[in-house]
Amino acid sequence: MPSADMRQDAVVIGGGFYGAVIAIYLAKERGFKRVVLMEREPALLARASYNNQARVHNGYHYPRSFTTAFRSRVNLPRFVRDWPDAVTQDFTKLYAIARRNSKVTAKQFERFCREIGAEIQPAEPAQQALFTDQLIESAFLVKEYAFDATKLASWATRELKESGVQVRLKTRVTDISNDPDGMLSVVAQNDNEHREQIRCGYVFNCTYSGLNQFKGDFSGTQTDLKQEITEIALMQAPSELEGMGITVMDGPFFSMMPFPARGLHTLSHVRYTPHMSWNDQRGIDPYHKLDQYECATRVDRMVRDVGRYIPSVLGAKYVDSLFEVKTILVKNESDDGRPILFEKHPELPGCYSILGGKIDNIYDVLEKLNAESL
Ligand SMILES: Cc1cc2nc3c(=O)[nH]c(=O)nc-3n(C[C@H](O)[C@H](O)[C@H](O)COP(=O)(O)OP(=O)(O)OC[C@H]3O[C@@H](n4cnc5c(N)ncnc54)[C@H](O)[C@@H]3O)c2cc1C
Repeated sequence: MPSADMRQDAVVIGGGFYGAVIAIYLAKERGFKRVVLMEREPALLARASYNNQARVHNGYHYPRSFTTAFRSRVNLPRFVRDWPDAVTQDFTKLYAIARRNSKVTAKQFERFCREIGAEIQPAEPAQQALFTDQLIESAFLVKEYAFDATKLASWATRELKESGVQVRLKTRVTDISNDPDGMLSVVAQNDNEHREQIRCGYVFNCTYSGLNQFKGDFSGTQTDLKQEITEIALMQAPSELEGMGITVMDGPFFSMMPFPARGLHTLSHVRYTPHMSWNDQRGIDPYHKLDQYECATRVDRMVRDVGRYIPSVLGAKYVDSLFEVKTILVKNESDDGRPILFEKHPELPGCYSILGGKIDNIYDVLEKLNAESL
């Protein structure tokens, strides 16, 4: 049986960027006195919030989803204002359009950037010369930034402490249920298999890949999710590409971006970064699935293909890979859009499930929360 019952105003499940910001928001902006944040890992922001491409989106990435592109344009300046120390701006960012198999032409891409109000200009000749002319139609100089997840984690640790939020690491929530007295009940288990039950007014499920893995009265999200095991390679960039981020769109699709948390570059590729995928369902624990996966790197194939478009990439040195489960909404598979998921659970009044999709979407989530009379 779970031990001691404690009453809290809110339990936030998941200590990634979203769970941390939401717990701080509840304490600081909404006056919640007793907030507990529960995270299964030994540290905050250790999963998707760290294992990603670190791009602060500015819209360029989404020529097939105007809304996502537009929201990125609105949210980027806010993100830079709120987390200036965690944002790296001092690199040259190029977007290039492939001649063959691209879902956009250079002209369409330029027009799209102007429509969303994103800065764009032709790359300088020395920058154009980085690309294989037969394969790349045009390259553009744009404005896009990268974030340092370790700095976001330090910020979160500091702010959570200051806000009086109790943080429990190495603690996994297993059940969310209704309590007979009208409250919610959360069962959590720590590293020593110690189980505890907490009663609370609200539950914020911010578990990203783990969103649907709860027992009790929780019946899952209404929105269908897709899980993908992804690999991002960490590379030492060759001298020609230091201080530079490059993305090629939008069919043959790959990126080499600064990864400030390690002082390296990420390399990702539309064909080789996703290793496997499945439709999310309760009982298939994505974290467990990743633990069981062999995680054999595909970096050689990434470098070989990217090297056809940008020959200097062949001189990059492989350091490491970040394997993670990426969670997307099934409905956005084809347009690559990244709207938020924000669901209330009629079967569990007071329980919210939240998935951000990308880091700057936090503002869309906070807007939704502001509209709630908690
Ligand atoms: C390969 C990849 C590339 C990406 N690239 C970018 C990018 O360039 N730019 C961008 O903006 N976004 C990118 N994203 C998306 C971005 O990483 C996510 O939107 C963001 O990190 C989600 O934050 P989160 O807090 O919801 O998730 P997470 O950081 O994963 O946090 C969820 C937390 O919940 C914990 N948890 C899960 N289940 C339980 C449980 N039962 N009990 C307790 N704790 C639990 C997990 O351990 C985890 O720490 C990328 C994602 C991936 C995977």
